[in-house]
Amino acid sequence: MAVTDCIFCRIAEGTIPAGKLYEDDLVVAFHDIHPAAPVHILVIPKAHVSSLASVDSGHEPLLGRLLAVGARLAKEQGCSDGFRTIVNTGRVGRQEVYHLHVHFLGGPEVLPPMLKH
Ligand code: AMP
Ligand code: ZN
Repeated sequence: MAVTDCIFCRIAEGTIPAGKLYEDDLVVAFHDIHPAAPVHILVIPKAHVSSLASVDSGHEPLLGRLLAVGARLAKEQGCSDGFRTIVNTGRVGRQEVYHLHVHFLGGPEVLPPMLKH
């Protein structure tokens, strides 16, 4: 069920516009509004799930779909030589939007190191 003040629920249900790339029974994919790389795709569940920390075994088919769809789209969008997949989770993970989403980042150039020390 949609959470009314959740921006990604609203994108999933179509009441807020987004650069949608793909949609099926479980997931929606769209361009990140502030891309951190030439290709920056977000893949989200249609149903509200607040974060990766709140999934259970019943979410396993959904989690597989999120990764498989994002990988296919990243390649279609030009990430032919690899990409980075990120799931920020909770306060420590600096999650900003509390609706589960998987980032797919890439482009023609090699990405910077994953974490700065
Ligand atoms: P995170 O820190 O993993 O929670 O990242 C949230 C991401 O959502 C950020 O990269 C934002 O740029 C992105 N974002 C926030 N609002 C929108 C929106 N309306 N459409 C597309 N991407 C968004
Ligand atoms: Zn939501």
